[in-house]
Amino acid sequence: MTDIAASADLSTEDLVQGVIDWISIESPSLDTDAVNRMVDHVESEFEVVGLETERTPGEDGWGDLIRGRAPGLARANKGILVVSHIDTVHPIGTKESGNPIRIEGDNLFGPGTYDMKAGAYIAYYAFKRLLEEGGEPILPVTFMYIPEEERGSPYSRKYIAEEARKAKYVLVTEPARDGGKVVVERKGSARYKIAAEGRPAHSGSKHEYGRSAIKEIAKHICEIESWTDYDRGITFNAGLISGGTGVNVVPQHCQLEVDNRFERLEDGQEFEERILGLGPYNPDVKLTVTGSIMRPPMNITDAILDLFQKARAFSLEHGLDLQFTSRTGGGSDGNLTAAEGAPTLDGLGADGYGAHQLDEHIYISSLEPRARTWMKLFERLD
Ligand SMILES: [Zn+2]
Repeated sequence: MTDIAASADLSTEDLVQGVIDWISIESPSLDTDAVNRMVDHVESEFEVVGLETERTPGEDGWGDLIRGRAPGLARANKGILVVSHIDTVHPIGTKESGNPIRIEGDNLFGPGTYDMKAGAYIAYYAFKRLLEEGGEPILPVTFMYIPEEERGSPYSRKYIAEEARKAKYVLVTEPARDGGKVVVERKGSARYKIAAEGRPAHSGSKHEYGRSAIKEIAKHICEIESWTDYDRGITFNAGLISGGTGVNVVPQHCQLEVDNRFERLEDGQEFEERILGLGPYNPDVKLTVTGSIMRPPMNITDAILDLFQKARAFSLEHGLDLQFTSRTGGGSDGNLTAAEGAPTLDGLGADGYGAHQLDEHIYISSLEPRARTWMKLFERLD
C-alpha cells in the first residue's frame, strides 16, 4: 500500500482560495440558475481530476444533481460515497452586504463557508491531491453534490438512497461540531402544514356569524407545542404562520407550518399519526393536515462506530484528535444514507461557527488537518 496521504504537501493557501472560489458563487436553494452556476463550477472541477461526470437535470425548479466517479484500484462494486450539498440558505448579495467574504485572523467569513462549501471543497481537494501525487483510492469513489439539501432534498433523496445502497462507506461533508467533532447520530425530522378554513364576517356588525381560522390554529399551536418532551428528545416548533385579511374581518384562512425533531423513529411515527389525525376544535371550521417524516433519525451502529474509529486512527497520526458528537438536532443527507443501512460518518467538513447565520465562518487552521484525514480515508479505506 502506498502512503501518500501521510506525507503529501497540502496547501492551506490553496484550500482557502478554493473555498473562496466556491463561496463566491452564491447558490440559494430556490434560485435554479444560481445553483446551476455552482454545478457548472463543480463540473469543471471534476474535469480537472478526470472524474466520470453524470449531471442529472433538476426537477420541480431545483438545480441539477451532479455526480463524479472514479473507479478505484480494487474495482469493487461497493465503494465510498461522498455526500455534499452546494446550496445555501443565504440570498444572493449576502457575500457583499450580509456577511462579506473576508479573512480576519484564523476566520474565513462568507455565506455558506461553514455549511458547507468548505467541507465540500476539502473532500474534493483531498482527492485531487491524492491523484496529483500519483495515488489512487482502493475503493471506487463517488462524489455527489446535492442542489437542495437545505430544503430537505425532496428531489435528490431518491438518488441519495440509490447511491447509498451501493456504498460500503458514506462520508458526509457537513460542518464539524463543537470544536471539530464529527457526527455519528442525528435526530430525525418531520414537517407538517395545517390549514384551517373558517367563515369570514364583519368583526363589528356580524361577529357571531364568523368562524375564525386564526383562533382555530392558535389552539392547535398550544396543543402541538405541548408535545415537546426534552427528556425523550422530541421537539415541536410552530415556526411559520399566516392568515387573515384585515383587522376588522373574522379570518377565513390560516396556515401553520410545524417542524418536529425526534431521536427514535417510533416517536416520529407516533406523532405523525397524532398530528395527521387532528380534527377541528370548532366543527364549522375545516382543518387540513399534510406532511410527513422527512428524515429518519441516524442512530449509531457498530459499523458507524468502526468507521469512526478508522477515521480517528488516521487523524491521530497527524495530531488531529477526532471526537464524535451524537444526537445533534440538525438533519442532513446522512440521515437518508444511514436509513439505507450504509455506514455513515457525518460532520467531516470544516470546523467553524454560525451555520445559517450572518456571522458564518470557518477556522482556516482546521482545513489542512481535515483535508489530510480525507486523503487518508480515500487512500486507505478498503
Ligand atoms: Zn448543511
